[in-house]
Amino acid sequence: MKSNDDHHCIFCKIVRGEIPSARLIETETAIAFLDINPVCHGHTLLLPKAHHPVLAELSDELAGKVGALLPRLCRAVTAATGAEGLNVIVNSGRVAGQTIDHCHWHIIPRWSDDPVNWPWPHSQYSGDELEQMRFRIERELRA
Ligand code: 5GP
Ligand code: ZN
Repeated sequence: MKSNDDHHCIFCKIVRGEIPSARLIETETAIAFLDINPVCHGHTLLLPKAHHPVLAELSDELAGKVGALLPRLCRAVTAATGAEGLNVIVNSGRVAGQTIDHCHWHIIPRWSDDPVNWPWPHSQYSGDELEQMRFRIERELRA
């Protein structure tokens, strides 16, 4: 079974109503539902209805339409759960923890005493590494 194929994609099946989900909101282009195995209760997933494996493949227009729902979802999840904070993250690629190849945002309610192991470790730049990195990424943005 190919996981990057919309015919076999679990989230496409949820979008089509072929498998059940706890739906929260739906627009012409996007859908949000509860994660079935939440990091914390209230963990919500937001995705474009169209099958795109990773965030980088979304058009600016589609990303804008889907992403526009984030602030409202954040307010609703916070109000409904009493969360003290949220993590809003997108995993892109296996190495980054993505397991379902249909681009999605995680909205994860957080509490000071929850069991989540966060934050992740930070490193440092030395010498001109920071400026070189800025230059390389900025050049790609202009390409
Ligand atoms: P990823 O690891 O790809 O960033 O996130 C995939 C998420 O989808 C996981 O948090 C996982 O718990 C959730 N998930 C996997 N299968 C299902 C499902 O059938 N229904 C729902 N609602 N969530 C799912
Ligand atoms: Zn899909």
